[in-house]
Amino acid sequence: MTIIIDTTSYDIDEKITNLLDAFIYIKESLNKSFTFKYACKSGNCGSCAVRVNGVEKLACTTSFKSSDVILPLRNLPIVKDLIIDNQNIKDKLLLSQAFLSTFNNEASISQHDVDIIDIESSCILCNSCYSSCPVYEVNKEFLGPFALTRVYRYLNDTKELSSKSKLDAIQKNGVWDCTLCGACSIVCPQSIDIKNDIVKLQNLSVQNGYQNPAFSSSFESNFSFDGGFNPNGF
Ligand code: SF4
Ligand code: SF4
Repeated sequence: MTIIIDTTSYDIDEKITNLLDAFIYIKESLNKSFTFKYACKSGNCGSCAVRVNGVEKLACTTSFKSSDVILPLRNLPIVKDLIIDNQNIKDKLLLSQAFLSTFNNEASISQHDVDIIDIESSCILCNSCYSSCPVYEVNKEFLGPFALTRVYRYLNDTKELSSKSKLDAIQKNGVWDCTLCGACSIVCPQSIDIKNDIVKLQNLSVQNGYQNPAFSSSFESNFSFDGGFNPNGF
């Protein structure tokens, strides 16, 4: 079988069906300079995410077929071959305050509390969602999918005491910039419904007195000087 990495075709031993095994085969037998990344080989670390025929996948949990085209993740700087620069992980998590800030260690936690944030806690920071996001593609200031889904996780953590500052942190280049296209939810290998979390963050923002800035500015421009509503915006 043949796979194509970027523009180079490689003939892979017929016995190999797993994509990460194919990468290892290429490295060991065909091209020693070929560069890729992996660690756990079991879908738990997120380090081997690539695009297969344009769709984000973890190589270690993906079978390939002949003529599949493999490319690095999109929207992130390429270091070499299939390795991307992951600096956005640290930057976006810090900017969005997607961590436990001020916390109450004495807070009691029920199974119900754990269940609410269980799925979001399973994010493996594979960056597939940033690769698929059309907003991040054009605006690198956008906080982006995994940062926002993690903010949702910490806002619902019964130990967290700094919810207000987290909500503040996601207003600019955050919840209101998402188009709710759902691409991130489709590619997430952990089946986190990121888009749905962003909708819930928008609702939470409104409940706490924030407004969608696009809505408020268009609402204001749709009023004429005499105070009447003008649906044409003149
Ligand atoms: S939210 Fe999903 S797609 Fe995004 S980094 Fe986490 S595991 Fe990967
Ligand atoms: S739903 Fe929002 S965060 Fe997810 S890919 Fe679309 S624009 Fe990006």
